[in-house]
Amino acid sequence: MPFWDKHIETLPRDELEALQVKRLKDTVARCRKSIFYRNRLKDVDESRFTTPEDVSLIPFTTKDDLRANYDFGLVTVPRVEIVRMHSSSGTTGKATVIFHTRKDIEIWADLVARCIVMTGAGKADVFQNIISYGMFTGGLGFHYGAEKVGMLTIPSGVGNTKRQIQLMKDFNTTVFHATPSYILYVSEVMVQEGFDPKEFDLRIGFVGAEPHSEQTRQRIEDTFDISAFNSYGMSELNGPGVAFECEEKAGMHLWEDSYLLEVVDPATGEKLSPGEEGELVITTLNREAMPILRYRTGDLARVIDDGEKCPCGRTHVRISRIKGRCDDMLIVKGVNFYPSQIEDVLMSFPEVATNYQVIVERVGSLDSLTVRVELHPKMFDGDLRKLRKLEADITKSIQDEIVVSPKVEFHEPGSLPRSEGKAVRVVDKRGKI
Ligand code: AMP
Ligand code: ZN
Repeated sequence: MPFWDKHIETLPRDELEALQVKRLKDTVARCRKSIFYRNRLKDVDESRFTTPEDVSLIPFTTKDDLRANYDFGLVTVPRVEIVRMHSSSGTTGKATVIFHTRKDIEIWADLVARCIVMTGAGKADVFQNIISYGMFTGGLGFHYGAEKVGMLTIPSGVGNTKRQIQLMKDFNTTVFHATPSYILYVSEVMVQEGFDPKEFDLRIGFVGAEPHSEQTRQRIEDTFDISAFNSYGMSELNGPGVAFECEEKAGMHLWEDSYLLEVVDPATGEKLSPGEEGELVITTLNREAMPILRYRTGDLARVIDDGEKCPCGRTHVRISRIKGRCDDMLIVKGVNFYPSQIEDVLMSFPEVATNYQVIVERVGSLDSLTVRVELHPKMFDGDLRKLRKLEADITKSIQDEIVVSPKVEFHEPGSLPRSEGKAVRVVDKRGKI
């Protein structure tokens, strides 16, 4: 079983927790150098911390705090020490910016290298980084990690799909990194161009940056005949390299020497018991330029609490697939659900192609839910009975999952809007309530 840093990845729990306490104290002390935390931490006495749970004595940090302290409000080092800036890909409000020192970049690359090697990928692989470069962290974050591992790294970015395919062919790409929605689109273009997605040398895919279901992962694996691994991170916490699946694929290991995890009730902020689903709250433990304490990620997941040590030997906690963001939750006709639940159902139908869209509207005083689905071209052969049956089956399965009965609309492949970055799946036309 390959490791990038076996010592730290398999550190016994008591040693890992002792390291967390030490790094937490150092981080709090460092944070006092920033304009924002100087005030925020007035009532905190980190010298008394004895366990990682003492983190709960620190106030939360929210995205609004980051926005309000734009630009350098959380920075703890002189400007000359900063070598990189990134930004979150949020589309609303002011962007949040994150700064790194040279050491921060090295530690981040090391975390990504751990993730890459954990999947069985290595320096003999050709790695195509099919994700946006620039301010978004997925591009450069993975790029530095992959080079550190020693892979031949192709910074192909997103878009120009035919060229992506050509690069895969010409340079025998074996490993890719992409959003699940874009890589499925690549598979469709491969078919249009007369290729079989299985005929390439691909063997491993890193997929992340957006919520996706287990069914979607399976579809990616079957389509390309590869092994696909879930990759979780966010710019505020560096970017990719926060949590990642090992070969067991039984949750994502979150690197606890660099990140301290809590799971809280998103409404009250109360700590939840192990195994309960809630909002991930994460503290950076190993960052110089811009450490962040108890960051409310907005992402919903749970700790895998099966009482078992992961067979891979790593001791770091595992978290479930991300269900969505707290603010993704839809309330339609008074019923709460997440778009990922609809995706789960859709991807279990082989007739369904890779793209879909959920529309919520108010007609009169009533909410209506429409699910637009692209079908495989072979479904449009004039057999209406077959289509009606499929429509009834999908409607029923969605209703069984989320209680609300949707209107299901079929569309030809390529006809629904598609984004090259993170997919926009839901259009809520109701306005703010
Ligand atoms: P950004 O800071 O722009 O990289 O966006 C980070 C956000 O993307 C996270 O807070 C999550 O909401 C989402 N995200 C990243 N990776 C995943 C993943 N593997 N599964 C689900 N959502 C993800
Ligand atoms: Zn494992």
